Amino acid sequence: MTTPSYSTRPRCISVVVPIYNEEKNIPLLYEGLAQVFAPLPYTYELLLVNDGSTDHSIEACTALETSHPDTVRVIDFSRNFGKEAATTAGFHEARGDAVLAIDADLQHPPTHISEFITAWEHGGEVVIGVRVNNASDSWIKKTGSRLYYSLIARMSHTEILPGATDFRLLDRTVVDAFKQLTERSRMTRGLIDWLGYHRTYVYFTAPERLHGEAAYGFWKLVKLAIESLIAHSLFPLRIAGYIGGFIMVFATALGSVMFYDRYITSLGFDFSGPAILADILLFMAGLVLICLGLLAYYIGHIHTETQNRPLYVIRKKK
Ligand code: UDP
Ligand code: MG
Repeated sequence: MTTPSYSTRPRCISVVVPIYNEEKNIPLLYEGLAQVFAPLPYTYELLLVNDGSTDHSIEACTALETSHPDTVRVIDFSRNFGKEAATTAGFHEARGDAVLAIDADLQHPPTHISEFITAWEHGGEVVIGVRVNNASDSWIKKTGSRLYYSLIARMSHTEILPGATDFRLLDRTVVDAFKQLTERSRMTRGLIDWLGYHRTYVYFTAPERLHGEAAYGFWKLVKLAIESLIAHSLFPLRIAGYIGGFIMVFATALGSVMFYDRYITSLGFDFSGPAILADILLFMAGLVLICLGLLAYYIGHIHTETQNRPLYVIRKKK
């Protein structure tokens, strides 16, 4: 639980924005945030992470930094590293008592920020924005994401709510825990879910993207989905072994029938030589697949070792 701060210093919220080609959205986002924070009893810092944009985003960012040096900080990547890296960098640099990640394209409406903060003040250590309708998405994206969520829910041990977005607020303790995670191929959302902590949800509707294009097209999303599935589950690796086991049982049964038919009592099948050979080959294929599945277990161990995640995460200790 977050303990309310009784010091006179107003609590600070860090707002992390990953930016890839958002030149037109940056000033709008700033306006939106400034309006939201003006009546609130909090200070805020705005971390603009320019993820190797090819338009004039960086100029828009530095202009804001120059005009509001107390609130705006720009982190400029040397090239495009992807949203996950940009958000991570923002979390690493943030100094606030809570850190809020928000998309630059205004699809995460700043007007909901006060709800996030209220939820946080009421003890939510991770406040997750859940998108209730995504009218602008194509049916393929919708069905894809539904399928993906049910798949990941079945395969991995981290529970992920469908519609949960990257629009989320983390308490300082969670951010510090997040910083311990060192794995390279990452999906920020999944890692935050893995960390645990008290979670609360804020529901919002995503408006259409105002300017620019969504950088995550269909294939990029598929790639991200596969990547996070692999990062969160070892199940795909083990499938080969299961298939092998199935094939081997089948081949053994068939082989027994063949043996019985040929050498003990004829059942009338009269299997040909090539049929027997085919069964032997099937048996061997099953054996090889089982060995692959076994290997998968070992690779799985190596995989979890190299992910190098902390063994446990402590919320608080005396
Ligand atoms: N983004 C980024 N690096 C990238 C792609 C996207 O920092 O390589 C940012 C982008 O500027 C936006 C957020 O990530 O602030 C979400 O991107 P987008 O709107 O393209 O994704 P979607 O809304 O489709 O999830
Ligand atoms: Mg978007």
